[in-house]
Amino acid sequence: MKDYFNTMKQIYLPWCLFLLLLLTNRCISENYIHPDFKITKSMFNEKIGEISDPEIKEAILSEPVDFLDRIKILLTLPQDFFLLVDKSHALKNSYKPDDLVKLKDYQVNVTGETHSVRKVIMDDLLAMIKKANTSDVSPVVASAYRSYDYQRKVYAHWVKTLGQEQADRESARPGHSQHQLGTTIDFYPIDPSFAGSDSGKWLLQNAEDYGFSLSYPEEYESITGYIYEPWHYRYVGKDATKMIKQYFKGIQQYFLEFYHENADFFHEYMKAGS
Ligand SMILES: [Zn+2]
Repeated sequence: MKDYFNTMKQIYLPWCLFLLLLLTNRCISENYIHPDFKITKSMFNEKIGEISDPEIKEAILSEPVDFLDRIKILLTLPQDFFLLVDKSHALKNSYKPDDLVKLKDYQVNVTGETHSVRKVIMDDLLAMIKKANTSDVSPVVASAYRSYDYQRKVYAHWVKTLGQEQADRESARPGHSQHQLGTTIDFYPIDPSFAGSDSGKWLLQNAEDYGFSLSYPEEYESITGYIYEPWHYRYVGKDATKMIKQYFKGIQQYFLEFYHENADFFHEYMKAGS
């Protein structure tokens, strides 16, 4: 009899343990709110709860699965597209993209022969300009990639011309310019009249469809640190412009700050191989 129990124990015990493990695992995974992330509802709510803007918080909490779908896509893209570069976050002076190309070589209208951007944004930039042309709009690039050293000269020029305080509202200190990323473009003319120009109006309506996002919108100086710059667009990709529009009130800075603070969290809890 004792032998019988021992045999049964040997056969069934591992199976019972295996089934129990399977069941527990299933119960736990059923609590995850997205199949590709090990994130429970309470983890998600706590993370999103850290956002101070109630409208953004509400928008994300009402669509957690869609939001994570989009985060997942962003995590697979080149992360330089989403680097936070602002008054408090700088790039190293050695930061320089290795795929810069001259815009004149692509028949883009430019104010300077050397204006360059990263090759990785060219397809969308050319598609955007082509589409603008069909509406008789011809955007001209007035400034694009700027090295750390060049930005130092630009900033020094504005300090000399405007004084320190005003220069800081209109020009970035070296290392703090989005132009150093090689994915940022100033369109011509670089002055407030651009907003009322054909190019200014067209880009405001359509640039996001091609992954370009207005960095310094009107009335957001307290958030972005800069006066309204209707001519200054940064490429973040179409997935990010959709994200910015749907969840971040159309404000690039809100999105970039969120991503800067939380991308590691989402990456850590993304399931391997998903
Ligand atoms: Zn600019």
